[in-house]
Amino acid sequence: MHLGEYQKLIEDIYYERDSGRGLEGTFLWFIEEVGELATALREGDEASKHEEFADCLAWLTTLASLSGVRMEDVVSKYAGGCPRCRATPCSCPTKQ
Ligand SMILES: [Zn+2]
Repeated sequence: MHLGEYQKLIEDIYYERDSGRGLEGTFLWFIEEVGELATALREGDEASKHEEFADCLAWLTTLASLSGVRMEDVVSKYAGGCPRCRATPCSCPTKQ
């Protein structure tokens, strides 16, 4: 599924509820999901990792919608390779 279609789907399912809650409350839910992803990455099985990536992407996408950002527009940042060094793969010094 294309990211734009995916964002429209998430909006159809959740936009009304999420806009009622507001950006800040929704952001807290997103952070909670990121914590669940951390747990799944550390100790989860494949099914729980799959589920937590799905949840994080959905919450990230609804935050974009609440902020007036289209997900299909943001992917272009990396379309030309690393935005800093412009190389693919990135040739910037490794950060730990
Ligand atoms: Zn780079």
